[in-house]
Amino acid sequence: MKPFHETHRKLRAELESPAPERVFGSGWASGVLGIGLSLAGLLLVISMRTPGQLLTAPQITPFQENQWFKLGVILLMVGGFAASVVSLALREAKILGTTGIVLALSATVIVQSVATANSAHPLPIFFGLDWFAINVLFTGLIFIPIERLCPQKEDQSIFRDEWREDVFYVLVSSLMVQALAFLPQGPGQLVGSLSPLGAVRHWIGGLPLVIQLPVIMLAADFFQYWAHRAFHRIPWLWNFHAVHHSAQRMDWMSGARMHFLEIILMRSITALPVLALGFTPLAVEIYVLVAYVYTTLIHSNIGWRLPYVDHLFVTPQFHHWHHGSDKEAIDVNFAIHFPLYDRLFGTYHLPKDQWPSGYGIEGHPVPKGYWAQLLYPFRRK
Ligand SMILES: [Zn+2]
Ligand SMILES: [Zn+2]
Repeated sequence: MKPFHETHRKLRAELESPAPERVFGSGWASGVLGIGLSLAGLLLVISMRTPGQLLTAPQITPFQENQWFKLGVILLMVGGFAASVVSLALREAKILGTTGIVLALSATVIVQSVATANSAHPLPIFFGLDWFAINVLFTGLIFIPIERLCPQKEDQSIFRDEWREDVFYVLVSSLMVQALAFLPQGPGQLVGSLSPLGAVRHWIGGLPLVIQLPVIMLAADFFQYWAHRAFHRIPWLWNFHAVHHSAQRMDWMSGARMHFLEIILMRSITALPVLALGFTPLAVEIYVLVAYVYTTLIHSNIGWRLPYVDHLFVTPQFHHWHHGSDKEAIDVNFAIHFPLYDRLFGTYHLPKDQWPSGYGIEGHPVPKGYWAQLLYPFRRK
């Protein structure tokens, strides 16, 4: 185990390099890109080749035999390999480049040596490893460049404090995509069938998509606003939500940090009105995607000042104030789509051109690490 620990230590030290060792031309960015692409390729290949569709999310399974999907996986491996070679050429320390190449080659070996395993007999459970890979790949490719171009905190690296914990949060919620996606559906369908709003449901279901989407956002955010306020107000609920607020660094990863039970509760609370009001399934699916990307955006380390937009929509600055550790930031800005609700209910706080001085909860009561945070709400305080 010793050589493994040593490699892990070196790799982590390289990823967490200080700013001067990450400058353009140092081989750091190409090394990180190489590892990122190769790892995504490897995870996708593993999930494609694991029997019984155990590691593939059903949303992705139908695409696995698609030629474009296969080409995409090959491009990930080739791109990861190429970026790693660039890093090897540029950088004195070779661990980033070597890791990327080992990952890309492992993916190639698995593709060539293991027969296609996805059979017509899927297992009754699955863990969406491919969902995780695609999720991190896409959000990373969108948000990392924007965070580099207009950062709020300029010196903050991708591999800031507790980055591994937050990656693990993304991994768990991606693996559990099944439970998370289907849990609210049962009660939601029940509410839908019991809903006495028959005529309203019919009318809403007939509206064009472009109207349905903002209406869903308004309805979901209204319920989310009050549930979110309850999570702050009621002590035993706060113990769960405190995990989300324990983040001391804000970026595209930090929104994923949320206690498992809070995710389930929050999704159910926002899903119930959406399902009860009779929006079309397509509109709901688009909303889920929009809400996911939007949540990532408002946590991200983006220093945009959007003078007119921030009256209408929640911006990173608005939600960063919700996470601020300053006194004035306590219990403000509960909305996640429309600041209107905070204005209406007296919790709006957006000082012009100002950002919180820090993030997290005063005294930082929540322990670090996924498992400690999972147990935190159940511990005697
Ligand atoms: Zn909160
Ligand atoms: Zn948040």
